[in-house]
Amino acid sequence: MIQIKTIKIINGLVPDFKNACLTQQDVMIEEGVITEIGNVRKAADFTIDATDKVVSPGFIDIHMHEEELDFSEKDPYFISYYQLKMGVTTSVGGNCGANRQDVKDFISYVNKYQAPVNYMMYLGHNFIREEVGIDNRYRKATSQELEKMKTKIKHYHDTGIVGISYGIEYSPGVETEEVIALAKALDSDQYLLSAHFRADVEKSVASIQELIEISSQSKMPMQISHIGSCSAYGYMKESLRVIQGAREEGYDIWADCYPYDAFGTFIGSAAFDDGCFEKWNRTYSDILLTEEPFKNMRCTEELFYRARKEYPNMIAVAFVMNEDEVIEALQAPFVFVGSDGVYRKNSGHPRGAGSFPKVLGRYVRESKKLDLVDALWKMTLGPAQRLRLKKKGDIQVGMDADITIFNPETILDNATFEHPTLPPDGIEYVIVNGEIALKGQTVVNGRLGTFVKYNLE
Ligand SMILES: [Zn+2]
Repeated sequence: MIQIKTIKIINGLVPDFKNACLTQQDVMIEEGVITEIGNVRKAADFTIDATDKVVSPGFIDIHMHEEELDFSEKDPYFISYYQLKMGVTTSVGGNCGANRQDVKDFISYVNKYQAPVNYMMYLGHNFIREEVGIDNRYRKATSQELEKMKTKIKHYHDTGIVGISYGIEYSPGVETEEVIALAKALDSDQYLLSAHFRADVEKSVASIQELIEISSQSKMPMQISHIGSCSAYGYMKESLRVIQGAREEGYDIWADCYPYDAFGTFIGSAAFDDGCFEKWNRTYSDILLTEEPFKNMRCTEELFYRARKEYPNMIAVAFVMNEDEVIEALQAPFVFVGSDGVYRKNSGHPRGAGSFPKVLGRYVRESKKLDLVDALWKMTLGPAQRLRLKKKGDIQVGMDADITIFNPETILDNATFEHPTLPPDGIEYVIVNGEIALKGQTVVNGRLGTFVKYNLE
């Protein structure tokens, strides 16, 4: 096998974010970096003809949930492959306050063996809470526990974490002061905070105001997680208005959103506590269980309580949001596309395998709710700037060669609630760090991704 060191992509349509258009260009890649753009005459080891295809910066998934590395399998990665197959080249794990193993262990594994995609990581607040022994999510931390958490956070300062993620809804006992105190325990105010809101539906606007307050008091940027599942129940307009207002006052607030009108989380979580059906105005049969022994079963009252008790870590999908409001969120200039992908083995919510192609196929091409270049910005340069990634998110000379080539006429998600991991159509090539990771739906090299440290300078 000849080692491919240089790749030339010819005749592709490259997004020009400054002028909000696509232009036809060749792109030359050498040693992991984009070295030439335009009419490239140089020869390469491998040439890709991308006529009529979009040559996009690789998608950056600012909101996902990393692997629970499974060492009983030959290959411990699985979610990362779904990410790669939908065109993602950089994934940000550890969102919603949750880590699926110690961040240091995950980072050192990726550093040692690499990964299917590049990874960045948040340190999860609820993970730290459990580490210091808080086993009751409905109570606040004692002052000693708070000190212990602050000490813990210091252990992660040199690991390259993006910042702290919070999952306030999952730990209803968490007070705003606890969130702020822990943010301040970080050694720089350049870190990024992300937060899964306290409560949805009629409490969504107040929950967003709380996150703005946290940003204000900590003087740190705030990334509001999956605003769709917070507010797409009749409260989106007001929620977006509040964020816009805060931004106009100078607060550094952005949000992300996955393009689905159903959310998914563990059936035992506080999201399904008493009163949830009343506030959503829905019933048990709007909840789908995704794992054996109840795989693809809609809940009855009896099944709902049984699953919560006996299988609290089973992922359940709740069909409770309004699609129009999800689209409204995606259209807002300060909202990125983020998958919130989370699976346990092959069970979960299709967003982890379909989010980016769904936006490009259904909302850009079919319903024209979003412009193509604008949608791509929400998947590439926008999140790259938010994550202080100077070398990613754009096709420019000197940038990292993380590139996704797709057919804008055919790109479409295939993952469904019954088959949540089916790969999309239309992704032709994914290049990670200058080498071909995916061709068609075949993984060519699943170890091209590296751990990417957050840049505090
Ligand atoms: Zn969340």
